Parts: sequence; structure tokens; C-alpha cells
Amino acid sequence: MLEEKEFQTESKKLLDLMINSIYSEKEIFLRELISNASDAIDKYKYLSLTDGEHYPSTDYEIRINADKKKRFIEVRDNGIGMSKEDMINNLGTIAKSGSTDFLQKYAEAKEADDLSIIGQFGVGFYSAFMVADKVEVISKTVDGPAHIFASDGKEKYTIDDCDFDQEHGSLIRVYLKKDEDDEGYSNFLEPYRIKSLVSKYSDYIRYPIKMKETKQEPKKDKDGKDIEGKYIDVEVDSTLNSMVPLWKKNPKEVTDDELNAFYKSKTYDNEDPILSLNLQVEGLVSYNALVFVPSHAPYNLYSENFEKGLTLYSKGIFIQDKCKELVPDYFKFVTGLVDSESLPLNISREMLQKSPALTKIGNSIEKKLIDKLKGMMDTDREKYEKFFKAFGDHLKFGIYSTYGMKAKDLQDLLLFHSMKEDKLVSLSEYVKGCDKDQKTIYFASGKTLDEVKLLPQLESYRKKGVDVLLFDKNIDEFAINFMPEYEGKKFKNIASESKDDLSKEEKNRIDDLTAQHKRILDDIKEALGNKVDEVAFSAKLVDSPVCITTKEGLSLNMEHVLQEQPGAEDYADAPKATKVLEINADSDLFGAIAKLTDDEDIKKYGTLLYDEALLLEGYDVQDKKAFVKNLNELMMKAMSK
Ligand code: ADP
Ligand code: MG
Repeated sequence: MLEEKEFQTESKKLLDLMINSIYSEKEIFLRELISNASDAIDKYKYLSLTDGEHYPSTDYEIRINADKKKRFIEVRDNGIGMSKEDMINNLGTIAKSGSTDFLQKYAEAKEADDLSIIGQFGVGFYSAFMVADKVEVISKTVDGPAHIFASDGKEKYTIDDCDFDQEHGSLIRVYLKKDEDDEGYSNFLEPYRIKSLVSKYSDYIRYPIKMKETKQEPKKDKDGKDIEGKYIDVEVDSTLNSMVPLWKKNPKEVTDDELNAFYKSKTYDNEDPILSLNLQVEGLVSYNALVFVPSHAPYNLYSENFEKGLTLYSKGIFIQDKCKELVPDYFKFVTGLVDSESLPLNISREMLQKSPALTKIGNSIEKKLIDKLKGMMDTDREKYEKFFKAFGDHLKFGIYSTYGMKAKDLQDLLLFHSMKEDKLVSLSEYVKGCDKDQKTIYFASGKTLDEVKLLPQLESYRKKGVDVLLFDKNIDEFAINFMPEYEGKKFKNIASESKDDLSKEEKNRIDDLTAQHKRILDDIKEALGNKVDEVAFSAKLVDSPVCITTKEGLSLNMEHVLQEQPGAEDYADAPKATKVLEINADSDLFGAIAKLTDDEDIKKYGTLLYDEALLLEGYDVQDKKAFVKNLNELMMKAMSK
């Protein structure tokens, strides 16, 4: 019975985009239809292997047929097929989050005038409407009757009962639009064009893509001998794709160009990957894998519905997309596939995910990726820095999120900004640049590189020529906290104070100063209340009059990050840094304060000094009103003298 239905609103938007084509490459519609056909066969084949009685196996194939008179091109498969409900759900609506993301990104890109982003999406079935007036889908599952879906892609579609000469599978028939000035749609009916599109986009599809072709063969005489100069037309079945999956070929025979083309066809990224691994591993577990690191973060890497993982095949049979057991979280940007002989086929997907072989393969890939990245760091630093800028934070996250368990593996992949060199250095480079007796790796952290560079605490390190790593990402310090040491050297935040760092003379001098100026220190501490835990003299400052340091434990920066976490304001006992306002006794400003006799004046100047220190550490003055009042009173007093 014929039923008419309306496309879902989101679908209409996408269809509208397809019809008023945003793509210059309309030819990709064929790739999309073939890829759907291949997916459908994958699904059927899997069922057949697990329940062969209900899903008898067959010779799987995808067949293309073009009819010049009726101006249509067909893609047919003997895969899983669709029921009427499937058609409504899969073709009448956008069920996949990918397409919804696409629409959102498209709207954003249009505003930003950057439509290149569109190339990153697989647009799927609807892409047929870029070239079609009308599309028909005839489909049947093993269990049910056949149906035909038909639409011009505008508002509505129809579904009706029909006959189909297959037990299961689908046939997508695309009626091509009339040729326009610059678009020769008829061209898609030409066998040479179809062949070249298949080899360009679908060569590695693992099922034969067949097409009937007319070839000329010499006419034969009664004895079966060729008659010279005479030919007849014969119809032959040609297979258009080479079918050998790239990952089954000998890696030595696979070129970078082939790997890049494969990556692009699978991800819709229009840039080459920054790193490709073509692995053929034999051993306790055997597997072939193609693993890629993109050259930039995938558009949806930070969206909630991003799924990490590699595509999993077992003995050449597709098992699942995005198998997350195959990559650790900190490599979630990595894509690719694994095909293994060592995985049992006849168990459920859930069981398979727990299989020890899968874990072993995952570990092996993780290790190979790390090695390859190290290699890149040594041989092509520029490229590595590009990689690190895109994904370095994920590696640091790997150390943090595993509580340091991955520190040994990942530490040599890290880069930080060196104060002395004013460029990125690795930890091993930092250590090489150290004096022999420097036992500590120093770092300082802040919100931006410019702000870190302003830290007063850096002054004495600059003067002594000791390098300090400058952290400008929150994750830096959190990661380092889980790395107790590197090559026997401990890490130390220069803004966190420890009496052990001082020499005997320095200690004595500070003790003397403290005794001498106890009143000033007490006044300032009283004025600041619990904003600081201590007011003390500094041995570190050279030019600046004050700075804020913290004692061992939480740093100022980390306290700040924790306070910014959603919901942090609800925790009255959120972790706090132990803060010390350090005063430079040699500064002129302190010299002047030391001469003051009025305790109230000392308190006012003390609060101002504290606010100044906060500003230099890259934070805001907390009580702006009090700050201004204070400042104005002191100005008035100074001027009236
Ligand atoms: P995707 O392939 O990314 O899921 P598409 O827009 O290409 O998105 O296809 C939408 C859905 O329509 C598919 O997920 C599948 O369920 C269904 N479909 C499309 N083509 C076929 C086919 N040849 N056989 C069976 N189902 C199909
Ligand atoms: Mg698809």
C-alpha cells in the first residue's frame, strides 16, 4: 500500500543543502552508496557467521548498473537489507549524531565563511540527491517483504510494497538530473567514469564491485578460429575494484601516497595524516593494523559524543567501528583499523571486548605509536612540534589520568617552554642544559606564557642563568605532580617555597631581618588576615619588592584551577594553597616602609603590596573597592605632605 510521509526537519535541512549543492565534488555520491552497500554486506555476513541457518551465506557482491536511456545508475547489494520501519528510521530521519554535528558545523562555518570544513564529513545516503531528480530504494530483509522508497528529496517520500528478485539486500536507483551548463550529469552513466570513480574511492572495498560491460571480441569461424577484422559485442562481468585490503598487502609495497589516500577516504579529512603506521605483527597475537595520527584535531574531538577507537576486523570480517579497547584515552585522536587472526569469531561482541588478545593488541599498538612519535621527535622536530601543539595536552593528560602510571612511557614525548632558550624543549634537553650539580628541574606556571614570564620569582634564576620551564596550561602542573622525578632530578615549582632551598648564610640573614622587623611583618599579617598564611622575607627576589609563594603542596595556579571547576563554590573546604607574602628587604620600597612609624600606614602599604603581588602572579585584585580606597588615601596623604 502506498504511503506518503514527510522527512524529519533535520533531514530536510540536510537535503536542502545537498540539492543546492555545497559540494564541488558531486561524484562522491557513488562512494557513499558503495560504502553503504559494503556496510550492509558486513552486517549480513556477521549474522551469517553467528546464525547460519537463519542467514544462509552467499556470494557477496555489489553491483553497479547504468541505463543511458532511462538515465539512472543503480547500486545493488546482497547485504542485510531494510524493512519498512528501517527505511523510515534510516532514510527518513537522521539518526546519526554525525549528521547533526554536520548541520551545526555547517551553520558555524558559513558564518565564519570557512566552508572547507564541510569536506570532513561523510554525508551519506542523502548525497545521492546532489545528482538526482529522484531516488528509489528497493530493499528486503531475510524475514520480511520487499518495499520501495521513492523521493525527489524535497519534502516528502513514499513507501510502497514491491517485488524484488533477491532474498535480502538493497538496490539504490539514482535518476540523474538533466545536464546543466557546467554539470554533465550524464557523464556518470559512462562505464569509464564509473570505473575511475570506483578505483579512486572504493578500490579497497572487500567485496567485488561488479558491472556488466560490453566488450568487442573477434568473431570466430566454425573451427573456433578468429576471423580477422570481424568483431562481435559480448557482455562480460568485470570486477572494478582490486579488493585486497591495503592492510593485507606487504607493508614494504605500500606507498605513503596509498596510506594517505586510504586515510582520507576513511575519515573525510582533506589533510594528510601527520603519522601513519602500517603494522604486520606476528607472535603470540598476530594482527595487521593501519593506524593514523591526524595532522589536526578532528572537528568533534571535544564534543560529548566523540567516540575513540579503531575499527576492528577479525580474519577479515568486520566486527565493529570504534573499538575503544584498542587505544588508550590519551590517544583518542588516533584512527585506523586492526585485523587479527587471533580473535575468536564465534563469541559475542561483548565477550570479544573482554578478550585478552584484544588488550594485547591494544598495548602493542600503544607502544609502537609511542616509539614512532619518539622517532619523529628525533628526526623531524618541526613536524613533531606541530603534532605536539595539536595533541601534546592529551599526552600530559595521559600521565595525570593514570596517576603517573604512564609517566615513564610518555615523559620523553613532552615538550615545555624553556625560559632560557625561549622555545620548546624536552625534559632530556633541559637536563642536558643543566649544571652538573643542579639536582632539580625548576618550573613556573601561570595562565599564559606572557604572564608566567612576569613572575617576580624568576628574577634570581635569570640572574644565575638557571633554566626554568614555563607552564602555561593547567594540565602541565597537574601532570608533573604525578612525575616525582626525571633522570633522578625532582621537579620544583619556583613559586613554592621550601626552607631547604636556602643556603646557611641566606637562612641566617633572613632570621636576622625577621627579628629586626618583626613589627612590620606582624602588622602586615594582621592587615591581610587569612588571605595569606605567613608574611616573610625573601631570598629570591632581585628587583621586585614582593611576591606570593606557596608552601609545598597545592600551588597558587592549581588552587585557581580547582576553584574554577564547576560546582567548586559549593565546597567550603575546597583545597587551598598555603600562601606566603614574601618581601624583598633590599628593595627601596621596603627601605621606605621600614622608616614608617604609624602601624596603620604600615598596614595600608602592606595590603597594597599584597595586591601588587597578586597582579604580578597573573590574578585579579580580590577586593577592588578596598584597593582603590586604600590607594587614594595613601596618595592624598603623600600629596598633602
Ligand atoms: P551511515 O552509512 O553513515 O550510517 P548513511 O546516510 O550513508 O549513513 O545511511 C543511513 C542509514 O541507512 C545507514 O546507517 C543504514 O542503516 C541505512 N542504509 C543505507 N544504505 C543501505 C543499504 N544499501 N543497505 C541497508 N541499509 C542501508
Ligand atoms: Mg553511509
